[in-house]
Amino acid sequence: MTYISEELRRKVAERAEYRCEYCRLHVDNAYFSHEIDHIYAEKHGGKTIETNLCLACADCNRYKSSDLCSLDPLTDEIVALYHPRRQTWSDHFRLNDEGIIEPLSPRGRATGRILWFNDPETVEDRRRLIQLGEF
Ligand SMILES: [Zn+2]
Repeated sequence: MTYISEELRRKVAERAEYRCEYCRLHVDNAYFSHEIDHIYAEKHGGKTIETNLCLACADCNRYKSSDLCSLDPLTDEIVALYHPRRQTWSDHFRLNDEGIIEPLSPRGRATGRILWFNDPETVEDRRRLIQLGEF
């Protein structure tokens, strides 16, 4: 694992407005510290540069691990996971009033499943944050 300087960590967190770039959880509402994710893992040749880094909550980072793709649960086709530097979140996901992150694309379906976006406990936490105006 490559060392990531404090300055680069700060830049990545600021750019993300302190929200997980996968599930949108704000750092202030997380049980554990957010982490810097290599979107393309180092083992796949991903570099420690701004364009390959994003802010991820501990859960998203753990579930994503070094994965780059998965199967679209609807078609069983292999699709690349959502890439926070190359795609726009709202093109692939939508948050509904019940706290569920709805996928809008094959990439969104595959990413949402592999990152467990809609685990019942997570949805309940998200719903409470929405009610408090914090999500
Ligand atoms: Zn997350």
